[in-house]
Amino acid sequence: MSAPGMKTVTAKVLVVGGGPGGYVAAIRAGQLGLDTVLVEADRLGGTCLIRGCIPSKALIHVAARFEAMAQSVGDGRFGIALDTPPHLDLAAAMRWKDGIVDRLSGGVAALLRKAKVRLLRGWAVFSDAKTCTVQGSDGPLTVKAEHVILATGSEPVPLPALPFGGPVLSSTEALSLERLPRRLAVVGGGYIGLELGSAFARMGSAVTVVEAQPRLLPLYDAALTAPVRRWFERSGVAVHLGARALGLETDGEKHLMVVRAADGGTVRVPADAVLSTTGRRPRLDGWGFETMGVDRQGAFVAVDDQCRTSMRNVWAIGDLVGEPMLAHKASAQGEMVAEIIAGHRRRFAPAAIPAVCFTEPEIVSVGLSPDEAAAQGIDAIVDQFPFAANGRALTLDGGRMDVGESGFVRLVARRDDRRLLGIQAVGAHVSELSGEFALALEMGAELEDVAGTIHAHPTLGESFHETALRLLGRPLHI
Ligand SMILES: Cc1cc2nc3c(=O)[nH]c(=O)nc-3n(C[C@H](O)[C@H](O)[C@H](O)COP(=O)(O)OP(=O)(O)OC[C@H]3O[C@@H](n4cnc5c(N)ncnc54)[C@H](O)[C@@H]3O)c2cc1C
Repeated sequence: MSAPGMKTVTAKVLVVGGGPGGYVAAIRAGQLGLDTVLVEADRLGGTCLIRGCIPSKALIHVAARFEAMAQSVGDGRFGIALDTPPHLDLAAAMRWKDGIVDRLSGGVAALLRKAKVRLLRGWAVFSDAKTCTVQGSDGPLTVKAEHVILATGSEPVPLPALPFGGPVLSSTEALSLERLPRRLAVVGGGYIGLELGSAFARMGSAVTVVEAQPRLLPLYDAALTAPVRRWFERSGVAVHLGARALGLETDGEKHLMVVRAADGGTVRVPADAVLSTTGRRPRLDGWGFETMGVDRQGAFVAVDDQCRTSMRNVWAIGDLVGEPMLAHKASAQGEMVAEIIAGHRRRFAPAAIPAVCFTEPEIVSVGLSPDEAAAQGIDAIVDQFPFAANGRALTLDGGRMDVGESGFVRLVARRDDRRLLGIQAVGAHVSELSGEFALALEMGAELEDVAGTIHAHPTLGESFHETALRLLGRPLHI
C-alpha cells in the first residue's frame, strides 16, 4: 500500500536487481516492446560486474603479468631478462580494474536506455507480490506491475567463528585491497577462494588455504583438479585439507588463524588478512520477500522450468533460485522469462551449463563427468588428449610439462551412438574452449561430428578434435 500523495509508477514488467540476471531480463523485455522498469539499489552490473567475475579476472590478469615479469629477473625466460624485480602497485592495479568495471557498468546503462527500459535507482521493498516502494534519492516511489521478475542475487556467508570485518575479508573486500597482504589465509577451497588465493600468491603474498573437504575444488573430479593442486604445491601455497578454521587470535596487529587439522591437531596460521569464501546465500532479507506469498525450496526461491514462482506472474532468476550460481545461467534465465512474458514458448532446459574455474591452470567442465555418467548407469566411453602433445599449448608455455600441469581435454560419450555427454579440460587458457564444448553438447554432437570438423592449427581446440579421433580409434598425434 502506498502512502497518500506518493508518486506511483506502473509497468508491464518490473525487474528487481540489475545483475546479469536482472539487466538481461530487462533489456530483452524492452526489446520485445514490453513496458519495463528495472530497480537497482547499487551500481548496474550486480555481483558479477562490480565485485565478482570481472574484477576477479582483472586481478588474475595483473597477477599473471606480474609473476611472469618476476620470473624474468636474472637469467630471464624466453630470452627476456629483467635486471631488477618488478614493483607491484596494488592501488594502481585496482584503479585499472575499476576503470574496466566503470566502462562495463556504463555500457549496461546505455543498453537499457537503447531498449527503452526505465531505470529506478534505489532499494525496493515489497508490500505485496506486485507492489513495491523504491527509496530513491528523490524520495519514495510506489511501483506496481503486472509481472515481477526477482533477481536480487546472492551474498557471501560468514563463518560464525570468523565474522567479516577487520582482517576477515569476503571476496568483495579482497577485490578492493590497496595493499598486498604479506600473509593471506584463505578459508574455502572452492573456485572463488582458489582463484583469488592463486592471484594473491602470484602477486607475492604467502598464501595458506584451509578446506574442510578432503580435496580442493570438490565440485570438480580429482583428475581435473590434480594439475591445480600441483601448481599450488610448486608455488609454495600451503594447503590444509579436511581442516576447519576455528577462529582468529589477535594480538595487536598480529593475527593467528586457529585451524583444526585433519589429524585432529591444532595449527595456528599467521595471517595479515583472512579471506573467507565458504559459501553464498540467496539475498532474501530486507526487501519484503515474506509479504509476497512466494514459496522457497530450502534456502532458495522455488521455481519451475520456466522460472515461475508459486505466485502468479512473479518470476525468479539467477543466484536467487539455486545452483549453479553463475552469471551466464542468470542471464539465460532472464532472457527466457522476458520472452515467456512476451508470449514465446520457452523452457529452461539447457543441454549443459559450462562451469569454468580461472585458476592456474584453468578448468572447464560441460555436461557429465565420467563418474556422473557411471552414476546414472550410462554405458559410456571416456578418453583424453594431453596438451603436452599440442603445439599451441607448448607455444603458450602452458604449464610445466614435467610436472603434468599442461593438462588435457577429456571426452565422455555414449558407447552405443557415440553421442557426447560431457567435455572437460584443464590447462592454460582452456576457458576459451568452453563455448565450443557447450555448443557441441547443445547441438547433440556425436564423436564423428567433432572428428569431421576441421580445427585451425595451431590451436588448443585441436586437442578436442584429437580426443574424438582417439575415441574413434584413429588418433593422429598421439
Ligand atoms: C568473487 C566472485 C567471482 C565470480 N566469478 C564468476 C565467474 O567467473 N563466472 C560466473 O559465471 N560467475 C561468477 N561469479 C558468480 C556471479 O557473480 C553470480 O552468479 C551472478 O552475479 C548472479 O547474478 P544475479 O543477477 O542473480 O545476481 P547479482 O549479480 O547478485 O545481482 C543482484 C542485484 O540486485 C540488487 N538488489 C538486491 N536486492 C535489491 C532490492 N531490494 N532493491 C534494489 N536492488 C536490489 C543488488 O544490488 C545487485 O546488484 C562470481 C562471484 C563472485 C563473488
